[in-house]
Amino acid sequence: MKDETLCLHAGYAPKNTEPRVVPIVQSTTYVYDSTEDVGAVFDDPTKSLIYSRFANPTVMAVEAKIAALEGGIAAMCTSSGQAASLLSLLNICSSGDSFISTAQIYGGTVNLFAVTLKKLGIECIFVDCDAGEEELHAAFRPNTKAVFGETLANPALTVLDIEKFARIAHAHHVPLIIDSTFATPILCKPIAYGADIVVHSTSKYMDGHALQVGGVIVDSGKFDWESGNFPGLTEPDESYHGLHYIKTYGKLAYILKARMQLMRDFGCYPAAHSAFLLNLGLETLALRMERYCQNAQTVAEYLEKAEQIESVSYPGLPNDKYYGLAQKYLKGASGVITFVVEGGKANAVKFMDALTLASNEVHVADIRTCVLHPASATHRQLTDQQLLAAGIHPGLVRFSVGLENVDDILADIKQALDTL
Ligand SMILES: *Cc1c(COP(=O)(O)O)cnc(C)c1O
Repeated sequence: MKDETLCLHAGYAPKNTEPRVVPIVQSTTYVYDSTEDVGAVFDDPTKSLIYSRFANPTVMAVEAKIAALEGGIAAMCTSSGQAASLLSLLNICSSGDSFISTAQIYGGTVNLFAVTLKKLGIECIFVDCDAGEEELHAAFRPNTKAVFGETLANPALTVLDIEKFARIAHAHHVPLIIDSTFATPILCKPIAYGADIVVHSTSKYMDGHALQVGGVIVDSGKFDWESGNFPGLTEPDESYHGLHYIKTYGKLAYILKARMQLMRDFGCYPAAHSAFLLNLGLETLALRMERYCQNAQTVAEYLEKAEQIESVSYPGLPNDKYYGLAQKYLKGASGVITFVVEGGKANAVKFMDALTLASNEVHVADIRTCVLHPASATHRQLTDQQLLAAGIHPGLVRFSVGLENVDDILADIKQALDTL
């Protein structure tokens, strides 16, 4: 089925007299007829439900829907996008290991990789997303366990050459993990280009309404874990009576290990009610992404011509550095634009404060237009010089185009630019 149909129907198929809409199963626990039945569940926890820290029917319906949209074999939801990125790596890396990540990733992920994982003994080797093949090969060490990158990076708006990164990761027998939050499966399906694991912050376009924080890990089921690099998957799990994930679960080994081991121990599973709301967002995802792309394209073209704007980054613009890669990998360039206002920080702030429709928010990918000035917010501690070194111009504005009528968004931008 096509995406519009999967958004509505995948993951839940009610039988005779069952509810039309995915029910909210608001229960921590599930009952069994006998002690023996309970015992059997512990022998193989994938056979039925144990406890809502591992799995819950409402969340599972959403997991199945997202897996179908990504073309994956299975998925596991998490209570945030951060938790999804963390577990996607902890499932295959432990103290003493390293992994490679592009430098153009979400700021929160940079902290997680460069600071917190380092404290756990896991080293992140950063590479530029535009690095050549030789430079990428040279970044690998014997202990490297994964490669990580973002399809369409937040906030750099770089587009990753997924096929190239997959080819290089696979040459070193490690998986490619892609954070595809800004693209969503509607604009790009990284698995089709060789990605092995896809993660999302569902807090953004998937939820779409700025209702709740969440994340998801999708497993392609295609990676060969038996190179000897991944003992956690190929050797018995002592915490699960010697269970051998590959032998027992085959292609589902990675995602079931994440659930049975990491979710059991870290407990960052979303609540049923959150999954219910996420499902409502997913039902209209295909429709909304189309309009986000249209509105943002119109706004980007307008900004490109505005004399008060120094430069615009939006991979849907033919002059953009990433236009070619966007044409190859993305069905549309999504809804976020960054631009530099003439006159630096002072004018960027003046412009933003003059906006009336677009709201000042830390969030992106809201259904409503919202805007952020990184130099005053996420990168506040940096001097102008440090900002430039980090690739953030002091006059840079991150503009997340919403689903209002685009004429109203343009009118708001125009009157704010007129104040400069
Ligand atoms: C927001 C975001 C995250 C983190 O997700 P949360 O749901 O806020 O924890 C990770 N990656 C990208 C690309 C994001 O935009």
